[in-house]
Amino acid sequence: MAVKQAIDHPVVIGGGPVGLVLALSLEQSGIPVTVLEAQQAGAMYGDGRALALSYGTRQVLESLSVWPRLAPAVTAIETIHVSQQKGFGRTLLKATEHDLPALGYVVSYGALMKALDAQLAQTPQGLEIRYQVPVQQLNVNAKEAEITCQASGEHDDVLTAPLAIVADGGRSLEAIPGLVRETKHYGHDALVGLVQTEQPHRNIAYERFTPHGPMALLPNGSQFSLVWTGKQAYIDEIAALDEAAFLQALHQAFGDRVGKFLHIGKRARFPLKLSKLSQTFPAHCVVIGNAAQTMHPVAGQGFNVGIRDAVALANNIAATPAAEWGAAHRLAKYHQLRARDTGRGLMFTDFLVNVFSNDLMGMGLLRGAGLGALGMLPTVRRYLVNKMSYGS
Ligand SMILES: Cc1cc2nc3c(=O)[nH]c(=O)nc-3n(C[C@H](O)[C@H](O)[C@H](O)COP(=O)(O)OP(=O)(O)OC[C@H]3O[C@@H](n4cnc5c(N)ncnc54)[C@H](O)[C@@H]3O)c2cc1C
Repeated sequence: MAVKQAIDHPVVIGGGPVGLVLALSLEQSGIPVTVLEAQQAGAMYGDGRALALSYGTRQVLESLSVWPRLAPAVTAIETIHVSQQKGFGRTLLKATEHDLPALGYVVSYGALMKALDAQLAQTPQGLEIRYQVPVQQLNVNAKEAEITCQASGEHDDVLTAPLAIVADGGRSLEAIPGLVRETKHYGHDALVGLVQTEQPHRNIAYERFTPHGPMALLPNGSQFSLVWTGKQAYIDEIAALDEAAFLQALHQAFGDRVGKFLHIGKRARFPLKLSKLSQTFPAHCVVIGNAAQTMHPVAGQGFNVGIRDAVALANNIAATPAAEWGAAHRLAKYHQLRARDTGRGLMFTDFLVNVFSNDLMGMGLLRGAGLGALGMLPTVRRYLVNKMSYGS
């Protein structure tokens, strides 16, 4: 038997970083919010996946008082070094040239969740989080959103709310009536892990384009976080290597910039895709973060675009009278505002993957020329740094 409950304020489905930033932002504006999270509290604290936070994301976390809790766990990126294997041309982007304390920050997913939860614990009753409540279905009608979730072993709960915000990372609520998703599978995987190198990172992040696909080394604590992308068959090959052979292959692909590679921790991999929602959006429902758009990790954009979704939506809801929460014409303003940033992020990362993972004759020269020009043109560099920091 289903138990029904009417909620008179926004409900967020998914208490990952994007859902929690939205919830904290709403709470800060005095708007009550309920978060439904499938897992138990603290389940992700051990997740070591490295997230690259932009300077703009730092500012958001500062405004929510989360940053001081997180700061001891982050590693600043002061310089970005871009190069290509088997080709000339390289460029350096430096924070000091752009009057920024850093071009970005690397932090583990688990540390970010801990800091967000700690801030959550400080908030008064306006923000309620229900753990171990996996949402099974979301429907919207003319009046409200209807959320079916598994509340206990015995029965389902059906919650109604003026607005349901899906922030589930795109992992469970794929088929929401009224929403159409376009997905392009790259056929590439990312292999990630922590690596120890002979030389210290000196707060430099390395982005290297190889004929197989882009790879990155992000400074993380005393080590680097490696993101190595390529066709699935290629990643199969390198994933199967023993540690010594893996480190040697890495050295070959990466060159001598950080000396020898000494050790790789646990290797994980995930498939890469571009995914976005089509332009028609129903009332009483919004999708944000990775659930709304998934992009290739080549430029570290995806997570930060999701955080900008959360902030823009919180502002939109705060500017909307409670009687109109979920109204299509109000949500349309949010979608208009976000379309440009999201579209450009998707286009930019897709362009980089296509151009830089292409081994056609002449492409290497073109890429080299592109990197050389980037090195010489301060305006283009400024544009790029601005885009990485704050979006479009
Ligand atoms: C395997 C993997 C590895 C990745 N590695 C990297 C990396 O190395 N570097 C990088 O920059 N980015 C990486 N990403 C992307 C990065 O994790 C995302 O950009 C970021 O987590 C998006 O945050 P989010 O809050 O939108 O979604 P998520 O972090 O996915 O959070 C979604 C939350 O919703 C909850 N949830 C899901 N379904 C339901 C449901 N039905 N009901 C209730 N709650 C639900 C989940 O438990 C979770 O807490 C990776 C992604 C994946 C999937």
